[in-house]
Amino acid sequence: MLRIGIGYDIHRLEAGRRCVIGGVDIPSSAGLSGHSDADVLLHAICDALLGAAGLGDLGQHFPDDDPRWKNISSLILLREVAMRLAERNMSVVNIDAVIIAEAPRMAPHIERMRANIAAASGIRTDQVGLKATTNERIGAIGRGEGIAAQAVCLIDARE
Ligand code: MG
Repeated sequence: MLRIGIGYDIHRLEAGRRCVIGGVDIPSSAGLSGHSDADVLLHAICDALLGAAGLGDLGQHFPDDDPRWKNISSLILLREVAMRLAERNMSVVNIDAVIIAEAPRMAPHIERMRANIAAASGIRTDQVGLKATTNERIGAIGRGEGIAAQAVCLIDARE
């Protein structure tokens, strides 16, 4: 059975924080705030995968009041999510995602992000679609107050 999933996440930009997106540490004067490394893209992807599997959401699996997940790399969370699917005989067919950010520029980092996502999910790079767009300076994201990401995925659930 094929199953689809959707995920969305947004994090505030804060001066002096690391800016980690798709597992890539992007040089930037401001980074994303949050309990883990606040990797907004990987969080959206984790939620898409968990949604497709009928396994709830990231917050249920990794509560943000649990000190074990403080400042943890979200690549570890994604690997853990992929393992929970594999345990249930579910394999990822593809992931497609978009980062919505006014700055910093994502283009130079997209291929490394794809490789990180593929490796953590246990799939090939050509099974990962990734792009970035600005918000045309509209609204909170357009003013650079935060960065958002959306993801969809298809998984194959064998009986
Ligand atoms: Mg998040």
